[in-house]
Amino acid sequence: MSTNPKRYTITAALPYTNGPIHIGHLAGVYVPADIYARYQRLTGNDVAFVCGSDEHGVPITIKAKKEGVSPQDVVDKYHAIIKKSFEDFGITFDNYSRTSAQIHHETASDFFLELYKKGEFIEEVTEQLYDEEAKQFLADRFVIGTCPKCGNEEAYGDQCEKCGTSHNATDLINPKSAITGNAPTLKETKHWFLPLDKHEDFLKEWILKGHKKDWKPNVYGQVKSWIDDGLRPRAVTRDLDWGIPVPVEGGEGKVLYVWFDAPIGYISATKEWAEREGKDWEPYWKDENTKLVHFIGKDNIVFHCIIFPSMLKAEGSYILPDNVPANEFLNLEGNKLSTSKNWAVWLPEYLEDFPDKQDVLRYALTANAPETKDNDFTWKDFQARNNNELVAIFGNFINRVVVLTNKYYNGIIPEPSDYSQVDEETLAAVKAYPDVIASSIERYRFREASQELMNLARLGNKYLADEEPWKVIKEDEARTKTIMFVALQIASALATISEPFLPFTSSKLKSILNVSSSGVEMSWEDISTKDILLPAGHQIGKAELLFNKIEDKDIQAQLDKLEASKKANEAANKAAEPQKEEITFDDFTKLDLRVGTIIEAEKMPKAKKLLVLKVDTGIDTRTIVSGIAESFTAEEVIGKRVTVLVNLAPRKLRGVESEGMILMTESPEGKLVFVNPDANQDVANGLQIS
Ligand SMILES: [Zn+2]
Repeated sequence: MSTNPKRYTITAALPYTNGPIHIGHLAGVYVPADIYARYQRLTGNDVAFVCGSDEHGVPITIKAKKEGVSPQDVVDKYHAIIKKSFEDFGITFDNYSRTSAQIHHETASDFFLELYKKGEFIEEVTEQLYDEEAKQFLADRFVIGTCPKCGNEEAYGDQCEKCGTSHNATDLINPKSAITGNAPTLKETKHWFLPLDKHEDFLKEWILKGHKKDWKPNVYGQVKSWIDDGLRPRAVTRDLDWGIPVPVEGGEGKVLYVWFDAPIGYISATKEWAEREGKDWEPYWKDENTKLVHFIGKDNIVFHCIIFPSMLKAEGSYILPDNVPANEFLNLEGNKLSTSKNWAVWLPEYLEDFPDKQDVLRYALTANAPETKDNDFTWKDFQARNNNELVAIFGNFINRVVVLTNKYYNGIIPEPSDYSQVDEETLAAVKAYPDVIASSIERYRFREASQELMNLARLGNKYLADEEPWKVIKEDEARTKTIMFVALQIASALATISEPFLPFTSSKLKSILNVSSSGVEMSWEDISTKDILLPAGHQIGKAELLFNKIEDKDIQAQLDKLEASKKANEAANKAAEPQKEEITFDDFTKLDLRVGTIIEAEKMPKAKKLLVLKVDTGIDTRTIVSGIAESFTAEEVIGKRVTVLVNLAPRKLRGVESEGMILMTESPEGKLVFVNPDANQDVANGLQIS
């Protein structure tokens, strides 16, 4: 690939359509991909940025079964939700397609046929895991067992999520059917295999030799370890009825493996886009002067660096990715993001809680991106990024510039006089930023790039604070004009440079500076090359706040939400105690349970857990010592209706005789709860409970 590509094909991992997307997806794949695509377009490059919903595979069929709907219902629902989230967060796909689309079925089917005709598959009758009760072959997520590599007992049939290893279902130790829980049997079936071992030499040459320097160490390292372990043939078909039918003889009742068809989705999405735009799709996938970049999370490395390239190579007419800048995982408040445990920040929910704050999340996720290692998203960091950087630096600078320009000059950019040395240095520094940020973006260091953007805002903020036009105006009007002119140039640079990172803010700022419609909108390169970005005499608009402070209570509300998820999980995980040994009815009638009322209560001195209660049992008023002081104060329980076991043999607790027991249970958080008669019913003390 030449150093100056003619065009860019940028792909972002196809989201799997069995749920909405959360901040982990955004941080790991879509925000960096969008920054990259927006930046390439800003510099005038020809870009096809494509993605789409991944709608085949076993998990969707499992979800559909559980919900009693069809797989198509499942994917229709989540395709719409996911597509809207991308639009809401300003992810500028040129095309967001879906793998259930006709054009994709044709493209994937043709791709398979082409490899088939070329003899690139091994056709083999093998024994596969089979669930006798469900009458179904088990592959991928239909089977769970112990990972042969790391010992994780919950590994799936196609991949272990713990160590990232990809394997065949028959490799699992102690496999179990995810449908019935039964141990599967082995049954013969015919499948087509991609002989990855055959492509080992090519992969060694292309990646291990060719991309040692420019691929991220985490990606290179994973790929190397797989290749070093030795590659084996992988089945690319499945016994399943949801997916793309295998288009050759003997393929009846079988579909393409979801990981075979999904990456071809990038090609279909490009075709669909080209058709719509009246362009030729082929150069975007077949011309050596095209730079192909796959943005993915680390769990997809094997598919994008080994399996898909082997498919492309085997087909023969396609280019290979120039880079696969996979990110590591984002954690949330110290714990792994989890859909099933609802430990996540879902994008639709975020927008409900923080309307119009898409850029704040984009920025916080980029500034803390899991580029080289797993990283933690915390709400406190999110708040600090907003309040201390976006509000206090970027927003504050722009607000001052716009307010003062309106106040002093009715919003018309003043004519500068001679620059001071500080002015010269400041303007020269501004000109250097596009290259610095571009270099970070070209090396997929988006985190670093976002911090350089903030440094540009910092430069403006410092310039104004040092030059103090609000003081200078009292004695030197000409100097004030120059200061404001320089500050306005920095504001204009920020409007352009911030676009890939903070697109909503950039657009608002361009509208405030009135550059979009008046022919003074700058390209990325203009910031470095032009001496004047906003000319004297140009009219700008009124000030509008770009960012607002996020209050502690809003952050606390998010932390409370997570805490509630944690509690709900703990409650769900808390297994009920097994039933005790059977008793006779006579045994039961030995218990004398009565309705009572607590009429007095006080804390037992020097005992953390004990309250001394006087209880009206209907028979008498008696003393009961109860271990509830950690859940209730004495005042709280006076007047409570309770259930009392009255014929329990008295016993002394800390010198006080306790005559009976009050029945209690416990909430998931460990707080005690009274088992009491329905408060609305008028039941007298002393009534027996039977
Ligand atoms: Zn494993």
